[in-house]
Amino acid sequence: MQDRRGKEHISRILVRSNWKYTQRAIFLLDVLFVLFFAVGIISGNVFFTTPKVLLCMALFLMACMISLVCAYYIRTRKRRLLAIPFYILFWAVYEILFIVAAKEAEDFFTLFLVATILSVSMCAFPIFSYYSATVFYLGQFFAFLGMLMSAEYSLEQGVCLFVPMILSAAISFHRYYLETKHINDRLALENFIEESETDALTGLLNRRGLARNIEAIWPYCQRENCKISVMMLDIDYFKLYNDTFGHPQGDVCIQKIGGAILSCVRRKTDFASRIGGEEFLVVLPGMGEETAIEWADYLKNTIASLGIRHSQNAPYANVTVSIGVMSYDMCKNMTFEDMKSQADECLYMAKDMGRNCICANG
Ligand code: GH3
Ligand code: MG
Ligand code: MG
Repeated sequence: MQDRRGKEHISRILVRSNWKYTQRAIFLLDVLFVLFFAVGIISGNVFFTTPKVLLCMALFLMACMISLVCAYYIRTRKRRLLAIPFYILFWAVYEILFIVAAKEAEDFFTLFLVATILSVSMCAFPIFSYYSATVFYLGQFFAFLGMLMSAEYSLEQGVCLFVPMILSAAISFHRYYLETKHINDRLALENFIEESETDALTGLLNRRGLARNIEAIWPYCQRENCKISVMMLDIDYFKLYNDTFGHPQGDVCIQKIGGAILSCVRRKTDFASRIGGEEFLVVLPGMGEETAIEWADYLKNTIASLGIRHSQNAPYANVTVSIGVMSYDMCKNMTFEDMKSQADECLYMAKDMGRNCICANG
């Protein structure tokens, strides 16, 4: 459960950040190209003023614009899978344009500078190193291979692609490492908090978890003045069960009953906790008295149907529970502590009434 939540959490962070930073990186590329274009015009440098290079820049700007529009479309429609072919296409166009530009360039130093600034600027953003960047590096690698194989390209031009590729790959992997570490640390912390709020025997909330959930949900219930039910549940003649079958077997029994309670608590806003040895408390926001009694009856039957043998629970053969139910149609002026102690009184009445029964609202 925790593991699945952790993975969902990671993928949410990755997808969200990836979009955010990819769009920023594309925008930065736009700005860089305009700057180089301007510098080229002013300095009259041959690299910037070759017609093919200018054409490449114009095409590249167009590709950036189209990418931004596509990225926006995909993000708003939440079609994230579409993003993969879109990225591949984007970097393919980038590579083709860069190779044409490299072919035209006569000035090794300028080309090297442009390639380095472009590649490294991509990695200036954390998370950019995930799938978009992977495609980018692959593209650069194949471009480099192409250069080695083609006699038209000099080794110098190959270096122009290879060095920035290594540099940006190193930066990206470092970022990837930091980001993964950050996510793992956060997950470890979340795990730690969850563990400290969970009862080790049953997996239900412990007192600390109960307090935190109540703190979170009670003000909302009071503001909305909603219906609410609180239930106290206690295993019947459990001391005798322990005396008969031993403490370890008693633990197994508590565990099974905890599991049964957990299986009945289905809404995300409902929660169950083990507040004492064999005592449980269930909070059901939005549930009125009638439904709460039906729910308690269902829970009581679920526990009885576990069929845990208890020879000292006459006239019943199996382990049973008594339940005290306290419900309010409007909880505006109720505190949780009040409801809890009223549910406790109901539970004592259920015990007085002969056990294996439900006592509601006193
Ligand atoms: P009643 O029907 O009135 O509730 O009778 P009872 O015997 O269940 O009542 P009581 O509260 O006196 O007994 C609770 C017993 O639960 C006493 C204790 O030995 C046992 N118990 C408390 N915590 C644990 C636990 O963690 N594991 C086990 N095995 N037993 C526990
Ligand atoms: Mg008991
Ligand atoms: Mg008890």
